[in-house]
Amino acid sequence: MRLHRVFVSELKPEVWLSPSESHHLKQVLRVKLGQKLIVFNGKGLEAEAEVSELEGLKLALCLGEIKASDVESAWRLILALSLLKGDKFADVIRQGTELGVVGFIPVLSQYCDVREFKEGRLERYKRIAQEASKQCGRSLIPDIYPLHQLADLIHLPADLKLVAHPYSHLTLSESLAGYEVDKTLDILCLTGPEGGFSPKDLENLKLESSEIHSFKAIQLGKRILRAETAPIALASAILLPQGL
Ligand code: SAM
Repeated sequence: MRLHRVFVSELKPEVWLSPSESHHLKQVLRVKLGQKLIVFNGKGLEAEAEVSELEGLKLALCLGEIKASDVESAWRLILALSLLKGDKFADVIRQGTELGVVGFIPVLSQYCDVREFKEGRLERYKRIAQEASKQCGRSLIPDIYPLHQLADLIHLPADLKLVAHPYSHLTLSESLAGYEVDKTLDILCLTGPEGGFSPKDLENLKLESSEIHSFKAIQLGKRILRAETAPIALASAILLPQGL
């Protein structure tokens, strides 16, 4: 049987859970004294644990050996995506987390219909990423970055920077040729809003330049994907082959 997973920011030999987590485990999941669980720290470490104390609303866990999770790939993919209408950004975080994405950057680009990014939204996205990690068996919770202007992405370091653009001739497999799946690789991928990228956006990504931080434009097939489909198609195509 799959063990319940619990997020704990600090892994110590004995951990007392927060009242809300204790309540969830006791009242909703009905855990018992001695029951085995998996705890994870959101940074890729995890340990098997046993319920060692159940006192009123409080619950303690006794941790076994701490080890690195074996479900993370050597390719570390960060998805930067333009702000999207409705709750589509949250859907991309859920699905991208399941696929193994390690970070999400909300981006304001010229043709974004949505231009407002409220304070509380980052916290909500972080909770969504934590919940999705827990459910899919990851011990790493993807980072949710603050809002970036598209022009700022050029300064971010990565081994490979790709922007999905329907009018590019370069395919994803051509852009990944030569990179080995078992070697660490930091990839930053950008996808656009419902209205696509403006000429100014593309200029800001320095597509034709040989600068170290410039982007390469790639196409994702001959059909136009919806703005919320493109990041998930891209993450699947990069991370799923060879069991990444
Ligand atoms: N009319 C827009 C255009 O001309 O770009 C379509 C935008 S599309 C709905 C939203 C985003 O998804 C695009 O900015 C791009 O990042 C990505 N996208 C959609 N289809 C794509 C494709 N076939 N190849 C590469 N990127 C694609």
